[in-house]
Amino acid sequence: MQPRRLRQPIVVVLGHVDAGKTSLLDRIRGTAVQVREAGGITQHIGASFIPADTLRAICGPLLTQFRFDVTVPGLLFIDTPGHEAFSNLRIRGGSAADIAVLVVDATKGLEPQSHESLEILRSRKVPFLIALNKVDLLSGWTPHPGSPLLESIKSQPKVIVDRLDEAIYRVVGQLSQIGFRSEAFYRVRDFTKEVAIVPVSARTGEGVPELLAILVGLAQQFMRRRLEVAEGPGRGIVIEVKEEPGLGYTANAILIDGELRVGDEVALGTRSGAKVTRIRALLMPKPLDEMRDPRDRFTPVESVSAAAGVKILAPGLEDVVPGTPMYVVAPGRAEELMNAISSEVRSAIRESERMGVVVKTDALGSLEAIVSMMERRGIPIRIADIGPVTKRDVIEASVVREKDKYLGVVLGFNVRPLPEAQEEADARGVRIILDKVIYSLVEGYERWVQEEKAAEAAQAFSRLTPPAKLRILPGFVFRRSDPAIFGVEVLAGRLRSHVQLMDQDGRDVGEVLQIQSTGSPVPEAKAGEQVAISVRGPTVGRQIKEGDVLYTSPGSEEARTLMTRYKGALSEADLAVLDEIVRIKRSKNPLYAI
Ligand code: GDP
Repeated sequence: MQPRRLRQPIVVVLGHVDAGKTSLLDRIRGTAVQVREAGGITQHIGASFIPADTLRAICGPLLTQFRFDVTVPGLLFIDTPGHEAFSNLRIRGGSAADIAVLVVDATKGLEPQSHESLEILRSRKVPFLIALNKVDLLSGWTPHPGSPLLESIKSQPKVIVDRLDEAIYRVVGQLSQIGFRSEAFYRVRDFTKEVAIVPVSARTGEGVPELLAILVGLAQQFMRRRLEVAEGPGRGIVIEVKEEPGLGYTANAILIDGELRVGDEVALGTRSGAKVTRIRALLMPKPLDEMRDPRDRFTPVESVSAAAGVKILAPGLEDVVPGTPMYVVAPGRAEELMNAISSEVRSAIRESERMGVVVKTDALGSLEAIVSMMERRGIPIRIADIGPVTKRDVIEASVVREKDKYLGVVLGFNVRPLPEAQEEADARGVRIILDKVIYSLVEGYERWVQEEKAAEAAQAFSRLTPPAKLRILPGFVFRRSDPAIFGVEVLAGRLRSHVQLMDQDGRDVGEVLQIQSTGSPVPEAKAGEQVAISVRGPTVGRQIKEGDVLYTSPGSEEARTLMTRYKGALSEADLAVLDEIVRIKRSKNPLYAI
């Protein structure tokens, strides 16, 4: 039997913001473009194809060293790095990405989004290697662009090699904590069991040939079956729906299996299910040097074979949802395929009466990614759906808000609220949080909850009686009673108006009506300040005398709240005064603030 044709592995690049994903992809493409004589690079829609000959030219001596040849037709790199693009490359239970490069900043180690990426790679069962980027920033590193990485490492002084090892072992340690074994690629014994770490520099290009060689090696050794092209109709994923000038709505798709031809009927996913349409044209990017007019960016082709990134022109693409599957319809199979697609769309959508947040996204992949991220973080979801934020979403959130203000919000990823939804949100005081990065949308929501809680705590705190200790200044009694007005010095804490005062024995003195500083009323006076206060209740000379020490007199419950919930908000001096107050109070009432 003839061996089946292997298609090129689809490679995605992931990593924390600023780890260097874009720079590394640019460097990989740039390195490949330079070897023109070997074929350079072919631009696809949303992807760049590095053919086998180019890989051979870049990796040459390494292939001899690692003892393998390039048997895949090349590598297809998805042009957009990151979680968002990766999410849309979804297929049920897995990913259309065959292999991933997780970019980690060597000077920082794993960062929060590296962890998120690892979670999603693990859940989608995508093998990956680590590009330990920015090795040129290890202090003292001397770049040797163009020479093999191992030689470059060998020629560095020992202290630099140690520094590199430190950076590597930091990542090895971090990965082992979450259950991944890893090693520098030159020390890996078994690539099926250990994640390879490849030191690279997107800036100098060092490590790029090694990175490419290992990607090819991993794919050829461990993914053969997956890369065998199945006979029969094409299958792919819509990654973007885009209106193009002069063309109308088009769908950018990644073909992952079989063939796609002009005239084929394809089944595609929409928010309400699925539809079948007929391909009018297939478009590939025109090579840069043939592009005379910026409007004339595409070359029509009759067919494409997997794997490929291609632009599809067909009627009725406007409501197709990115992240949904695309199947070429074989005779008699339309209904079956449409059912499969709509059940996939439905399985990602959540509709419930739970107390939870409302989530709207632009694509099926981002919806799944956000839902799973929120589930991992224990954030309940009431509605999760595709499309703009509607008035109904806001109403649902406001129903939740009445019971739980922290869950009564709408989160929108890459979508806008409809004007009437925004009006409704303003009228009902419902918060709509929007973002274009999955991670920061979820973080943004969590931050908002924290800020709301902190603001509420601050407000509740401001309603409590702050502890204060004061002394009546001799010679500054302005009025003896009704109300008594006299000068005090705040010895410790903060004195606020409308609080109750007591004397050193815990006897009630009265309520502070007003505090005045140099003739004007002030809301409070701090330790060290001398102010005049008016107090309803006492008569100076009877209940209180000049020189007396007084305290604020919080209620039992108030004092307990201060000591438990707001301990962190009080200074040492405040706490010391509170302690004195509690001691005085307990001498009269042993259960005070218990
Ligand atoms: P992304 O957010 O992961 O796509 O990161 P970028 O590619 O935008 O890079 C973030 C910053 O790091 C930019 O300022 C880059 O110039 C810088 N950078 C990326 N790779 C390297 C590298 O290998 N060495 C150095 N020194 N800087 C780098």
